[in-house]
Amino acid sequence: MLRVENHMDEPREGNQHSLAREYEAIVSIGGDYEPPPGLENLISRAADTALDAIGDKTFSYEDGPALFDLAYYHKGWKYLKTSVLPVVESNIISTAFVLNFLKTLHQSMRRRQVPQEEAKSAYKKLAQLAIQNFDSAASAPSAPTTSVSAHSSMLWFISSLFELGLEEQLNLFLDAQWVGHIGGDEFKSLWIPLLQDLFHVIGKHGVLLSEPRWLVFYQSIITAYLFTCVGERPKETYSTKTVECLIRCKDCTALNEFLADPTRQVGCFPLAKARRQHLHSRIEAAGDHCTHETVRSTRPETLVVTKRSSGCEADVKSWEERRVQAEKQLDAFDQQKLRVVLADLYQDIMSMAILESEGIASGQTNSSSTRNPRPPLAPVSGNPA
Ligand SMILES: [Zn+2]
Repeated sequence: MLRVENHMDEPREGNQHSLAREYEAIVSIGGDYEPPPGLENLISRAADTALDAIGDKTFSYEDGPALFDLAYYHKGWKYLKTSVLPVVESNIISTAFVLNFLKTLHQSMRRRQVPQEEAKSAYKKLAQLAIQNFDSAASAPSAPTTSVSAHSSMLWFISSLFELGLEEQLNLFLDAQWVGHIGGDEFKSLWIPLLQDLFHVIGKHGVLLSEPRWLVFYQSIITAYLFTCVGERPKETYSTKTVECLIRCKDCTALNEFLADPTRQVGCFPLAKARRQHLHSRIEAAGDHCTHETVRSTRPETLVVTKRSSGCEADVKSWEERRVQAEKQLDAFDQQKLRVVLADLYQDIMSMAILESEGIASGQTNSSSTRNPRPPLAPVSGNPA
């Protein structure tokens, strides 16, 4: 599952200190001024020790910049390239860490501190690997406070792909092959707000929203969001209580066939008076799970049996609540732009009719705007928050 929210509050294995904390400690030795020569050695030894141990560490969000700065300021670009990049690669499924490392690398490219071509090629390689691994990315406990940083580093990441002209990686990202692995909470905390803010980034880079890749991206994520967080309206089911008949007559057998089927609500039994009265008495003896009346306009007259619906009202109510929440999220988009990216699906998505559509659910939409958006692979969450 794609998690970009793993932060440093999560429990660590053993007594490991986070690299971010170690780096903070090293920086604090020097204080605000140039450290005297004795301290310089101490700092350098501490930095060496911390760097020697990075192969055994697990990293989280805040370790990204710490690792970059520690290696770059104490050892230089060459060391960072040969000794640190392979470590980042081996932690590629820690998406939050990798994206924040890439952000620091990108900032240092903007400041022209690092050799531009080499840095760009390193960035490209890590970006490609990170996207390819989104669907197997490490799941980690996510705290609500971290979604802001997840959101900002993801937005930065997309922006950087534009800025560095990494079209191939941008397209791989926008293909959203990993969309089925997004968990329910991540849609609300990360992806939906991200899609809202992304309009601004796309506009800033002078790209047309109507490009098919944006349509695929927005349609895939929003469709998956609705299927995962709202789901299909719970189907009405009906009582399956049958009647008893000591002689097991064929009329009661037919009645019971209807009564035992949870999908049927109304059953019609055209019968002569005595046989209707027999069914009457059997139904009434069984309780009040259905009502019956006689339609006299037919020959023979028809006994119409109607079942009461059975306890799915709570399910429907909770579905309605989820639907209202999703409507609020969709309303928060710039509607003019949302109309462009959702194209043919706009009405079906805004009305949630898409959730009722068998065609979409089985991936066979007639949408002419783009390739079919994929439904989520994950089952509809039983009780989304
Ligand atoms: Zn009978």
